Order: sequence, then C-alpha cells, then structure tokens
Amino acid sequence: MKSIKELYRIGIGPSSSHTMGPRKAAESFGQQYPHAASFRVTLYGSLAATGKGHMTDVAIIDSLQPIAPTEIDWEPKIFLPFHPNGMLFKAFDAANQVIGSWTVYSVGGGALTEEGTPSPEMNSPNIYTMSSMTEILLWCEQTGKSYWEYVKECEDEDIWDYLNEVWKTMKEAIQRGLDSEGVLPGPLNLRRKASTYYIRAKGFKQSLQSRGLVFAYALAVSEENASGGKIVTAPTCGSSGVVPSVLYHLQQSRDFSDLRILRALATAGLVGNIVKRNASISGAEVGCQGEVGVACAMASAAANQLFGGSPAQIEYAAEMGLEHHLGMTCDPVCGLVQIPCIERNAYAAARALDANLYSTFTDGMHRVSFDKVVQVMKQTGHDLPSLYKETSEGGLAKDYEQM
Ligand code: SF4
Repeated sequence: MKSIKELYRIGIGPSSSHTMGPRKAAESFGQQYPHAASFRVTLYGSLAATGKGHMTDVAIIDSLQPIAPTEIDWEPKIFLPFHPNGMLFKAFDAANQVIGSWTVYSVGGGALTEEGTPSPEMNSPNIYTMSSMTEILLWCEQTGKSYWEYVKECEDEDIWDYLNEVWKTMKEAIQRGLDSEGVLPGPLNLRRKASTYYIRAKGFKQSLQSRGLVFAYALAVSEENASGGKIVTAPTCGSSGVVPSVLYHLQQSRDFSDLRILRALATAGLVGNIVKRNASISGAEVGCQGEVGVACAMASAAANQLFGGSPAQIEYAAEMGLEHHLGMTCDPVCGLVQIPCIERNAYAAARALDANLYSTFTDGMHRVSFDKVVQVMKQTGHDLPSLYKETSEGGLAKDYEQM
C-alpha cells in the first residue's frame, strides 16, 4: 500500500473524484501543452452524469482556460470499460490539429490512474508490505504494538508533520463551518445547519448535547465541502465530515492531546488505505458504502484507539463501521454533494461513536472480519446497477426530479 498521505489530501471540495481529480488532471495536461491554441475535454459516465453539480467543468476550465479556450463535452451514457470516471483531454494547435491527447481516470479520493501505462502517481512506492487487516492485526499481537506504530514504521519521519497539517485543516474547516450561515451553492437552496445545531446542542444536558455536537461538527465540514471550502479527504470529499467531527468532539470533551489525535488519524488512515487497496473508495465504483461507509470505519477505529481499545477491538470497531453501511447507494440529488451526503456524514459520525462503544463492551472476538467486509463491499458495489453509483439517475436523485 502507498502512503496515507495519498488518502488524506488537503484540497478544495466538493468532490474528490469529480473535482479534485479532474482539477489535478487538467493542471497536469495544461503543463504538458502550455502553447496549445485550444483544449477539448470529454467527460464520460459518472463524471458527465453528475459533473455539473460537482463542479467538474469549473475545476477543469479554471485550470486550462488561463492557457487557452477550453470546451467540455458531456457523455453521460458512455462508460469507458476501465472505470466509470473517464476523461479524455485533447490539445489543439492554431490550425485545429490535435497535438496531444490523454485518457485518464479519476478513481476516488482525488487519485488519478491511466489504463495500461501507470501514471506518475501510480508509480509512487508501496511502502506498506502488509495490506490486509488480518496480517496487520497479527503483527500487532505478535509485537505488542498498535496500528499507528505500524504506520510509523512504514512512513517517512515527516508523516507527523503531514498529519499535523491534516488535523489543522480539519479543525479550521469545523470552525469555518460553525461560523457560516446562509444558503449553499446550487439549485437546491439548502440552508446551512451546522451553526444552529451547535447552539441548540449547547442547550441540552450532556448525553443529548454530545450527540448534537458531533452532528454539528460533521455538518460544519460537509457544508464547507459543499460550498467549495478547504477540507481533507477522509477518505473522500463527500465523506470528509465524519473523521474530523468524531476526533474533534472527543478532543473537546475528553481532553485528548493533539499527539494522541495524530496517532488516531494514523490508524484511521491505515483503515482507509486497506479498503482503497483491496476494494474501492470511489462512489462511482462501489456506491456510498465506499465513501461514507469507509469514513465511518476509519472514525470507529480512531475512536476506539483513543479509548484504549486493543488491536482486536479496534479491528472490530472498524468492521462494524463498514458492515452496517454495506449496500449504501450513491444517489446525490441534482448531482450536488448535498442531499443525502451532508446529513449522511452526521449520521455516520454518530454511528462511529456507537461502533466504538459496542466494541468496547466486547473482548474484540467476532465472526466477520474487517477484511471479509471489505471483500463483500467490493462485490456488492460491483453488483449495484450503475444508476446507484454517482450517476444521479436512481434513488433519491430520481425521486427529486419527479417532484
Ligand atoms: S451519496 Fe455518498 S458517495 Fe455519493 S456523492 Fe454523496 S457522499 Fe459521495
């Protein structure tokens, strides 16, 4: 597996696969053809189906238009065989002759992949020799160490500086989200709710307040993401509210030090990395179980570690976080990362705290392993019809259009 730095990407939302990845691809193509007279970019499959709501065109045009006029072609009915999020970039000279073309795929979490020829990113080294939870759990039990120590052994020394930056960005997104009011961009005219949840939660007694605050923090980050604010993919933009809300809530309520939060982030990153490697974190490939489901697994593991869980209990918490999101579809209304995405982050954050608690009551023994759930998630995702995989053609997205 690659560095968890490639899982936690700091950037601008609202979508890692539909905004961050295409922006990065456009910047890279623009650098290759700085003297082009014009560009044409064809978006295929899911990228075309929900690209307008996800601001894919804005990300690409922002990157290429300063070099040369850029046109976007939308092909929502054409799915390239390699991955549902395909893009074809073409550069033209002044005589309108093609001087370069590039087919590239935005495969989730802001990552890019080329079919056949590995992209530079694909060439980045695999620094983790173990890539299943079962192997890593065994290593923990044999060495007496924890998951974050495995991360420490595999990553460069600067990983803690990087995670510190990740944590700082997450906290800033929460603060901005709590301070912001008004309506989110797009045709839904959806009002921001985080600030209201926060103030109402403060009026309740402790256990209700606790739940209300974790909702407020998750809403804050997800609303920031939906409005194109700076967030961290954890593992994606659409699911970026879950991990920060759980960690921030625990830090505020239990006084966990930043150092312990960074270690929890390391473990959460390892959990997300295992899924990214063995299945997918792309809503267009496996539905929302791969985004919010994985975020919940990451946050569950992180919370359990903070409360002193054993490696087996941490694995169990992660397993429940994902298992109980199996089959969850991706059906963003109007192609925006707003309904159901924002609320879904708040629910998943609460579920992560429940998974932590549930696991804490056990000795960590259970029947279905995390690795098994990852395999099932992958298969379930492949069995889902494409209308439930970020095309905005089914589920809630369809109902909304009929209203
Ligand atoms: S429904 Fe889930 S997977 Fe789909 S865009 Fe929203 S957060 Fe991402």
